[in-house]
Amino acid sequence: MHTELVAALDIGGTKIAGALVDGGGAILTRAQRPTPAREDGETVMRAVEAVLADLAVGPLWASVRAVGVGSAGPVDAARGAVSPVNIPGWRDYPLVERVHRASGGRPVTLVGDGVAMTAAEHWQGAAQGYDNALCLVVSTGVGGGLVLGGRLHTGPTGNAGHIGHISVDLDGDPCACGSRGCVERIASGPHLARRALDEGWRPGPDGDVSAAAVAAAARAGDPVATASFERAARALAAGIAATAHLVELDIAVVGGGVAGAGEVLFAPLRRSLAAYATLSFVRDLTVVPALTGTDAGLLGAAAAACEGLADAKADALTGE
Ligand SMILES: [Zn+2]
Repeated sequence: MHTELVAALDIGGTKIAGALVDGGGAILTRAQRPTPAREDGETVMRAVEAVLADLAVGPLWASVRAVGVGSAGPVDAARGAVSPVNIPGWRDYPLVERVHRASGGRPVTLVGDGVAMTAAEHWQGAAQGYDNALCLVVSTGVGGGLVLGGRLHTGPTGNAGHIGHISVDLDGDPCACGSRGCVERIASGPHLARRALDEGWRPGPDGDVSAAAVAAAARAGDPVATASFERAARALAAGIAATAHLVELDIAVVGGGVAGAGEVLFAPLRRSLAAYATLSFVRDLTVVPALTGTDAGLLGAAAAACEGLADAKADALTGE
């Protein structure tokens, strides 16, 4: 069963996680290091190399056929480079080449973290069995990815499906990306919590002003907290409806910390989606919570590595 393995790396601003994963999606070995995100690029790379070295100590490493990397974005998969917003030492950093060298010359597939989560949900989670899916990660930002025609649709640079920067409010507040009224500007955890505060919501004695605290207040019946989640849900629904009209979707899957609010988010999300997606070909679209949780990044990187291997085999057969 375990003859063909892939190594997976999940690189974020806080931690670098690694795993050896088999063809059925079972995680066999894990390794992790904190991300020295404020250090120079080479120091960050040494942490990645340390994770790979930990994975390489056991006998399973010899069975590793490829490496999949899911990284905080933006990524440029076409050039094998990354420029994660929260890792300033990496700008156009040649991550694919460096991981290729550090892994003994194995093939490396790079995807952004939103695409990785999508790959994980399609392989093991709520999008399993669906050929056309949009998956969203709603946390400190809003990211996402697409499965179209049964395959992960990454786009030329690996950023396709980045729903967070669809504008849903033409004259809305300026977004960090330079546009206005983006889904992320309204629905991300920090922005929905900020709006609750601006509208008069006050935190409890612990001073917690996170989206999770706003969710708890909404669950307890606070009308301002509830309204803040309803507005975030409308922004997400408008973005999902726009995507469904463009490419036709069977399912939308929502994960990330803000999705942990449960029905506080999903009840208004379903209502708003019904209001924005009304034509016959989008009316039946369902929206559900993600299932792969904290391993989404690793499983998605592994899935991307498997797809990369399959593509390479297909190319070899057709002589490309
Ligand atoms: Zn934006």
